[in-house]
Order: sequence, then C-alpha cells, then structure tokens
Amino acid sequence: MDIVCSDKEKQVLEKIAKAATALDTPCYLIGGFVRDKIIGRPTKDADIVCMGDGIALAHKVAEMFKPKPQVAYFKNFGTAQIKLDDFEVEFVGARKESYRSHSRKPEVTPGTIEDDQNRRDFTINALAISLNKKDFGKLVDPFNGVRDIERKIIQTPLTPAQTFSDDPLRMMRAIRFAAQLRFTILPETFAAIGENAKRIKIVSQERITDELNKIMLCDRPSIGWDLLFKSGLLQLIFPQMVELHGAEYIDGKGHKDNFYHTLQVLDNIADKTSDLWLRWAALLHDIGKPATKKFEEGHGWTFHGHEVVGARMVPKIFTKLKLPLNEKMKLVQKLVLLHLRPISLTKENITDSAIRRLLFDAGEDIDELMMLCEADITSKNKLKVKRYLQNFELVRERLHEVEESDRIRNWQPPVTGEMIMQTFGLAPGKKVGIIKDAIREAILDGVIPNNYEAAYHFMLEKGKELHLQAVE
Ligand code: ATP
Repeated sequence: MDIVCSDKEKQVLEKIAKAATALDTPCYLIGGFVRDKIIGRPTKDADIVCMGDGIALAHKVAEMFKPKPQVAYFKNFGTAQIKLDDFEVEFVGARKESYRSHSRKPEVTPGTIEDDQNRRDFTINALAISLNKKDFGKLVDPFNGVRDIERKIIQTPLTPAQTFSDDPLRMMRAIRFAAQLRFTILPETFAAIGENAKRIKIVSQERITDELNKIMLCDRPSIGWDLLFKSGLLQLIFPQMVELHGAEYIDGKGHKDNFYHTLQVLDNIADKTSDLWLRWAALLHDIGKPATKKFEEGHGWTFHGHEVVGARMVPKIFTKLKLPLNEKMKLVQKLVLLHLRPISLTKENITDSAIRRLLFDAGEDIDELMMLCEADITSKNKLKVKRYLQNFELVRERLHEVEESDRIRNWQPPVTGEMIMQTFGLAPGKKVGIIKDAIREAILDGVIPNNYEAAYHFMLEKGKELHLQAVE
C-alpha cells in the first residue's frame, strides 16, 4: 500500500522494521495512523503491534537513535512509548481479548495479528501495514477497511451488538468518527448503538466527556450531537440537552425547537472559532429554556429569566460531565448569563450608561460575548439575518466609542478601598463598601467621568453624606 509519509516518519518506520528483524518479532503499523494516512488526514502518533514483547521492541528501537530517546513503559499493560520530537510511537504485543459483562476491561492473552484486528472497533480502524522484511509495506485489510474509507462508512468488524456490548465506549467513538470524518454509520451498526445505549453506564465519565470534547472540536459539531440524540445516548449522558428538543403548540402557536436551534448556534460559532469553551457556551446558552418555558395569554411562549437559570445550571453540568471547574467554567457561565444583553442594546435610544454597564459586566470577554450573540441569529430569512447583524455592528461601534472614552472594559476603581479608609480614618467595614459602590455606580451612570480626580471629589461628597470627617 502506498501511503505518503514524511522523511521523519519513513526514517522511524525503517528503524522499527530493523529492530523487529533483529529481535525476530514480526510487527505492523496499525489503527488510526494507517486510517488517516489513507484518508489523507494529518497524523500524530503511530501504533505498532508486534507478535512478541512490545516493551522489548521499543527498547531495541530506542537504541537505534542518537541521542537515545526515553522509553516510557507500563509493565502491567505491556505497552511502551517513544517520543521522537513531535512524533509519538506506541508499541504493544498483539492480543486477544475476552470481555465480561460488568466491565469494559477485557481479559487479555497474547494473540496473532488476526486476533488483534478482530478486537478493533471499526473496519477503518482495523487496517494494518506490515513492517516485516518479507512483505514490508503490505496492507493487511481483513474487513475491507479501505473499501469503507472509500465509501465513507463506519461499521464494526464483528457483529455490532457484540462489539458495542463488549466495550460501550465504542458507541461514542462511532459517533465521534462520524462527526470528525463526516462518515455515515451503517444503519445496522447505528441500530445496535440504540439497542446497547444503556451499556454506556459502565463507561467512566472522563472517557465519555473526552469523546464529547472531540465532537465539540469538529468542523460541524452538530453532526455528533444529533447522532447522540437519535441513538438514545444523549438521553442517558446529558438529559438536559434532550429537554430542549421539540416544539409545543397551544392555540396554534408554537415555539422553535430549541435543540436544533442550539445545534445551529453551535455550528455558527464553530465557523468563527475553534475555542472549545466558546463552543460549550454556544451549546449551553439556552439550556435554561425548558425550566422557564411558559405560555402567556396574548403573548405566546416566553422563556423569561432563562439566561439566569441557565447560568446556574452551568456548574452543575460541568460537575456532572467532569469538565474543569475553573475559569473556563466561569467564562461559559458568564456568556450564558449575558447572552441576551447585546440584543437589548440593539433598540433605539440606548444610553451610554447601558453600554458602560455591559462593558463592565462582560469585561475582557466582550468580544466573545458578541461572537456568541451573532452566532445566536439562526433565522432562515436572509434579510432578517442581515438586519440583525447590522444592528450588532452598531452595538459594536457604540461599545468601541464608549470604551475609547471611558475605559470600562478592564475597569479598576480609580479610588481604592485603601484610599477611602485613609481619607476618613476608617477601619475596614460596611461604610468603605458603600462609598466604593457609590463611586462605581456614579461612573457607570455617567454622573462623573472615570478618573481619579472626579472619583476623589465624589468620595468626599459621599463621606459628608455619611457624616464622615476627612482626616488631615
Ligand atoms: P484518534 O487519535 O483521533 O482518537 P485513533 O483511531 O488513533 O483516533 P486511538 O484512541 O488512538 O484512536 O486508538 C488507536 C487504535 O486503537 C484505533 O484506531 C483502534 O484500532 C483501536 N482502539 C482504540 N480504542 C478502541 C476501543 N475502545 N475498542 C476497540 N479498538 C479500539
């Protein structure tokens, strides 16, 4: 099989072949590396499977490089890794697996290359290329993986029910590959995901979330989320998302399907940024809608306060999904909370004060917030979309102007709490806070400009109101 390798890759593969001959250990390139080379996708790491001791082979290969690279090995798993600059190679002995129902960890015994290909999840992942002297470069493709790559099909090498029941993580992987490669999951294979969906409970949350993040980083993440929904997996791993699905009708009035609206917003933002957390913010921006949905006579459907409810749900969802509970979560939460604010600024006669308040609340994330708001426009009416985008352009201009003159985006109080305490001889306490807040509000409302002098005078005035004496 002719695959295009870089000089570095060729050099490494030839050395592996040499080391394998020296140890009399047949070995093969296998899995994702072969698949991606045939497709023509960029590859990162290569997996080598050998009929013998993978760790010993890795050590032999390492000896052939100067300087000798480190071999990271795991005796219990029989695997070893060598990192050669940015090219990582993993070695493992060929194995045969048998599964028990309560665990996705199989019993493993040494096996042949056929055994090892049988245990692979999909035909396109079971391809191997020989690195042996007698047939170097020969493709070993027992399940017509190349044909499936050409047809853009995902199917399991053995019966799908068995494959998914043995290791239910494969259901997530099938959907992730379908989204990543834009391949179709064969109907029989997809049906087996539906039938085995409940088995997902034996998979750790970390593994599930790892696949969700990979889906999130696809060019069109909606493909993966839609397949998760249609397979029944989404209901089990992320039921709040499923709640968004469907449209209810009362008196002939319906609302939009918030699930598909959300997926559209996600794809829209994915066109603009590959930032994982902005994509999560897009996915979660309307997550509070089902809990706040009401039908109001004369009004129709409303979702009042869904941004507040949604923002409160973010830490809970991040905890459940084992996503990091750090500043990334805070960013997602903030964007969910503020996602309606720029829309409210598209009306006429918006005051500078309203603009300053948004700059203050969004802080340095204002551009990301505007990006989310623009992605949130999903009307099919092109004229409407154009008009909304123009409105946002005006909001951006106003934000820019006000920021230029008032510098609110990274606002720091021009008079600090420390200064207030010194001026009035105060100990830390409530009064310091009252004066600080009053200065901030006066600046945001445009009562005083955002500078030290004005803030200082305002502080003295406020002190008088509170019957405080300035100490000399
Ligand atoms: P990516 O690097 O994009 O995740 P990959 O196919 O290289 O794709 P890895 O997780 O690195 O994925 O796995 C390497 C190979 O190991 C796969 O191509 C497949 O042959 C096999 N494999 C991985 N996970 C499983 C699994 N759960 N069940 C069966 N085979 C698997």
